[in-house]
Amino acid sequence: MAKVLCVLYDDPVDGYPPPYAREDIPRIERYPSGQTLPTPQAIDFTPGELLGSVSGALGLRSFLEDHGHELVVTSDKDGAGSEFDRHLPDTEIVISQPFWPAYLTAERIAAAPHLKLAITAGIGSDHVDLDAAAAHGITVAEVTYSNSISVAEHVVMMILSLVRNYLPSYQTVRDRGWDIADCVARSYDLEGMHVGSVAAGRIGLAVLRRLAPFDVRLHYTDRHRLPAEVERELNLTFHPTTQDLVPACDVVTINAPLHPETEGLFDDTLLASMKRGAYLINTARGKICDRDAIVRALQTGQLAGYAGDVWYPQPAPPDHPWRTAPHHGMTPHISGSSLSAQARYAAGTREIVESYLHGRAIRDEYLIVDGGKLAGAGAHSYSARASTGTT
Ligand code: NDP
Repeated sequence: MAKVLCVLYDDPVDGYPPPYAREDIPRIERYPSGQTLPTPQAIDFTPGELLGSVSGALGLRSFLEDHGHELVVTSDKDGAGSEFDRHLPDTEIVISQPFWPAYLTAERIAAAPHLKLAITAGIGSDHVDLDAAAAHGITVAEVTYSNSISVAEHVVMMILSLVRNYLPSYQTVRDRGWDIADCVARSYDLEGMHVGSVAAGRIGLAVLRRLAPFDVRLHYTDRHRLPAEVERELNLTFHPTTQDLVPACDVVTINAPLHPETEGLFDDTLLASMKRGAYLINTARGKICDRDAIVRALQTGQLAGYAGDVWYPQPAPPDHPWRTAPHHGMTPHISGSSLSAQARYAAGTREIVESYLHGRAIRDEYLIVDGGKLAGAGAHSYSARASTGTT
């Protein structure tokens, strides 16, 4: 029987379950690529429920316990003597979400001799030391596509929020004010702006598609070029490198994974090459941007705004300088954890667990590391020596 250790974010401060705003969520038939949604044998939750916090347990509790497995769910993941560290030595499967990542460092992996499977309930497995996982024969899997569209919607929201100066204007209303000149002094139309995506994978392409109707000029860079018909359809300008892309853009959105090629990519030098007053949106991973260089660029006006939902570490400490930087529109890491996304990645997690426990192959598109090397989606999007030192 397997021991499953699931690290999830805390329940809502007002208790679980929360009062829900809606009765249900739309049923999605397929992902845009044609990939099927998760296909577990069954689910023990109602789509639309809060599953990503401790009491939600990703909807796995009855399935695992009825089959005699042990499920430990905790939010206590960091610091010496955490519950995560205490349970790791005899755990076979670790599950965590990027929003509240259980950092599986090389040291922790060395302390987990029974660990066989690390599942990311969501997308982005950079919180796992992938080299160490490969060396120890641990399979790393994530629920590819489960929240890609969720993030793309968040990116569009954040671009519009920054460019139109939404957040300070909303705050004016909350403060009972009517200071229109103050609100509009930093408010522009997105129409006609040059918007570029660093990477055009599942999220990046979905962002580009969603922005096309705004009559903007679209740019992208990626390691693999999109098909010519997609470039034509969206009127995309391809740039061979990020360095080539950013000077051409008024708005840049980062949609690449965190790996050695992208870690610290947006540093003082790259930021200085952007147009003065450009906007930068990062919903990919915090460490793709140099933390202090972002603050400097906001303070000098080199960046007119910075938004996103990814930080390092997570949870971000109370004194993280992005919290108090000027002209930011940051949220906690939420874009990929809407209730809609949770239903998909909880079902996908269950599918992966079922496959593992029944000795069936895990879908290739879910694999990041398998058989001692990058595999499946991981072999495509990450790079060898995949650890970034952030774990
Ligand atoms: P995909 O794998 O579909 O796309 C990633 C793309 O990035 C691929 O096209 C890949 O290129 C490209 N890429 C990799 N390295 C580089 C590089 N150095 N320069 C330019 N492009 C590069 O992943 P998704 O779109 O689904 O997700 C992207 C990332 O977004 C995730 O890895 C994760 O970090 C983050 N994410 C954030 C979430 C949130 O809640 N904020 C939720 C989900 C994901 P190619 O494959 O062509 O080689």
